[in-house]
Amino acid sequence: MPDVLIQNARVLEDGRLVPSEILIEDGKIKGIAKEFRISSYDELINADKMVVIPAGIDGHVHFRDPGMTYKEDWYSGSCSAAAGGIATVLEHPNTLPPVIDKSGLSLKLKHAKKKSVIDFGINGGVTNNVDQLKEIWRLGISVFGEIFMAESTGGLNISNDTLGDALSKIGEVDALACIHAEDEALRLENEVLLKNDTGIDVHSRIRPNECEEIAVRDCIKINKDTAVPARLHFCHTSTPEAVSLIAKAQKELSPVGNARKITCEVAPHHLFLSTKDYNKLGTLGKMNPPLRSPEDAAYMIQALNSGLINAVASDHAPHMHYEKDVPMRSAPSGVPGVETLMPLMLAAVRKNLISLERVIQVTSRNPAHIFGLDRLGKGSMAEGYDADLLLFDPKKTVPIKSKNLHTHCDWTPYEGMDGIFPGMTLSRGDVVWDGFQIIAKKGRGAFLPGAGLKTDEDGKMILEYDEDDDE
Ligand SMILES: [Zn+2]
Repeated sequence: MPDVLIQNARVLEDGRLVPSEILIEDGKIKGIAKEFRISSYDELINADKMVVIPAGIDGHVHFRDPGMTYKEDWYSGSCSAAAGGIATVLEHPNTLPPVIDKSGLSLKLKHAKKKSVIDFGINGGVTNNVDQLKEIWRLGISVFGEIFMAESTGGLNISNDTLGDALSKIGEVDALACIHAEDEALRLENEVLLKNDTGIDVHSRIRPNECEEIAVRDCIKINKDTAVPARLHFCHTSTPEAVSLIAKAQKELSPVGNARKITCEVAPHHLFLSTKDYNKLGTLGKMNPPLRSPEDAAYMIQALNSGLINAVASDHAPHMHYEKDVPMRSAPSGVPGVETLMPLMLAAVRKNLISLERVIQVTSRNPAHIFGLDRLGKGSMAEGYDADLLLFDPKKTVPIKSKNLHTHCDWTPYEGMDGIFPGMTLSRGDVVWDGFQIIAKKGRGAFLPGAGLKTDEDGKMILEYDEDDDE
């Protein structure tokens, strides 16, 4: 007997929304058809003509747990994701302690397993731990990174020499290296040059387009020069210059069938916000890489549509309002975004900025493929895949309000902007968000180990941690 039957749904098929039913068994999609004509099931969901798409996979979140849980923790962060239609996250390593060795990984895994309401992967950090990269890969990290080429929150940035050593190790195990591309030398130079500059957009000028361009170019070259180049994924690309360099590198690789060895993503704040918003946002608009010109933002939407950019990820990086409410230079960088990623993208569909089909590709199918989550049943609304689903009413645009969001972070850079929020989010067939509240049990989320995971003879994970340890 199937566990769940979703009736009265609409599903995208060959560019058209068609009335459909969805059958779910053991948390996986059993079938999608016009009508199943079955009468026994555990649970019936009336979708009330809502559109059903795969739930989002956010490949870039910072949940601040362990170490800075007043900003976010695995419960608040995962609830925020679920309420925004995200059923899988990859969490980045710059926590306290950072995930750069076995103990850091086991501590984070413990916190996440106890609290997360959705499925998650944990990324491994790269700093001066090059000798330990292979070990954390075998312990089940999803991917490496983000690898910081310039200073940012958490201070994990490394030199180009260390980057080369790391990429070579990452290449040897055929893992993915996720890169935060900003050039540290140019940033430092501009810090000095603009020392007395009090302009509201000074942060964007300290880290100009060229800063990202230099770092992307260097990284591609450094990787090429290693014995075994790694697969590269550029996080939160924000400039036409970077996107063009990545497209060129993809083209060079495509004749040998390696085009997918270099991919990139964009964050919603580089699509829907720009330097024009500094007047309204002030320091709330400070993130790395920084806000770009309105023309650059328009280019990024176009590049996302044309396929030059492969995925959207939030770079959810919460800081409290009082922490941001200081002069620009001392304000921490980062904005929350995991709960608004899908609502902003779905509102963009309504405004004809992007097709629903493309949104599905860049928020589920492509991230699943890039981050190796498809092998774990993520990223497609098809038979045999996890029933991670987002149900929404495409006409129900509402203003985004921070008071309605579930993050600890008490503000959003998108206040008042249009969003289309999920009427329901399912994770492996369980309703985790019903449009009004989170109804998932704390800790129901499953760990999604990376492809390097080694298990013992009984197939159990080797990574050990003491369940009773204090937090
Ligand atoms: Zn970053």
